[in-house]
Amino acid sequence: MYFRLSFSKGLSMNKQEKHKEIEKPINAFSLEDLIIDEHNNVEVKMAKHKPTLREEIEQSITNIPDFPKKGILFKDITTFLQNGRLFYDYIEMLAHRYQTYKIEYVVGIEARGFILGSALAFALKAGFVPIRKKGKLPGKVLSQSYTLEYGKDSIEIKEDAFAGIKGVNVVLIDDLIATGGTANAALQLIKKLEAKCIELPCLINFLEFAERKERKEIDSQTHIFPLIDIE
Ligand code: AMP
Repeated sequence: MYFRLSFSKGLSMNKQEKHKEIEKPINAFSLEDLIIDEHNNVEVKMAKHKPTLREEIEQSITNIPDFPKKGILFKDITTFLQNGRLFYDYIEMLAHRYQTYKIEYVVGIEARGFILGSALAFALKAGFVPIRKKGKLPGKVLSQSYTLEYGKDSIEIKEDAFAGIKGVNVVLIDDLIATGGTANAALQLIKKLEAKCIELPCLINFLEFAERKERKEIDSQTHIFPLIDIE
């Protein structure tokens, strides 16, 4: 059965195509796609765009201007974490991505890397290793200093983080990569312990810093897997 359809919107963004009469098998559409008026004119509804996980997560992250310092646009991921479905779907997507690698440890960078990293470690049945700010970890530690987008700092990992085993596969995770200083320092610590970083997933990647030395050093050691690239 064929219906003569008058397209007044949807299907094509080309203005000349609008209002064009064409023939199309009626079963090419479901009833929900059609609007039929009292004169039996049939319109095809504009297809609804189903947001992707990336788009939904991007929407869920809050921009806080001038925090913690004037001029910094702080990306607040707590509003993403509050959404159980999005948090679950992001971790599930990462777990699926790494399931075929024998990931022994997920390494998380203080503090938001702990939240994402421990969830991912759980999903992968891997151990979780924290990389912390100077002076927070007990016992023997390795230290690495680095420069931040706002300041300078040092991070540490426990010397026995990977139980003294060399060559283990790890995933390093943080919420955001800006200058790359923190992630690069974390990679140096992983390298000192002779583990292999399979990938570096993050929610947000600031592309404006892509040409920095630290970013190039990261690229030479592992692959960044960002969900959202920000120009
Ligand atoms: P960087 O070392 O410059 O790559 O900075 C990355 C670290 O600083 C990550 O642990 C982030 O959590 C934090 N960070 C840097 N810039 C921002 C920002 N604009 N919004 C939120 N966190 C940030």
